[in-house]
Amino acid sequence: MNDCIFCKIVAGELPAKVIHETDRVVAFQDIDPQAPVHVLVVPRRHIPTLHDMADEDGDLVGEIFQVARRVADKEGISESGYRTVFNCGGDGGQDVYHLHLHLLGGRRMAWPPG
Ligand code: 5GP
Ligand code: ZN
Repeated sequence: MNDCIFCKIVAGELPAKVIHETDRVVAFQDIDPQAPVHVLVVPRRHIPTLHDMADEDGDLVGEIFQVARRVADKEGISESGYRTVFNCGGDGGQDVYHLHLHLLGGRRMAWPPG
């Protein structure tokens, strides 16, 4: 995916503040943070949306959440709490079509989301 900004970040072709990496997953700071902690956790492989994941990708979803937990520990928000969000498609509010989990914390989140 030549024109995907998150593929470029994963490849090191675009700068980003990387917080944590595994063989299959990269976590980096959001460029426009909506909370004191706002990290995106993405698979290295280009998958457009949550809905494009195959049945056998379940362990990859699990790894994305495990990395989010580690980042929450590193960022010091494990005790205070945090929110994880996959926006999916147009009505889900997705703007970048490379799967990413938002990890948000460091302030009280509102509910319901807008
Ligand atoms: P979405 O709306 O697709 O769920 O979230 C996309 C997120 O990617 C937004 O929070 C936006 O700020 C972030 N973002 C967009 N472009 C870049 C970029 O070039 N670098 C980083 N680090 N984050 C980006
Ligand atoms: Zn991509």
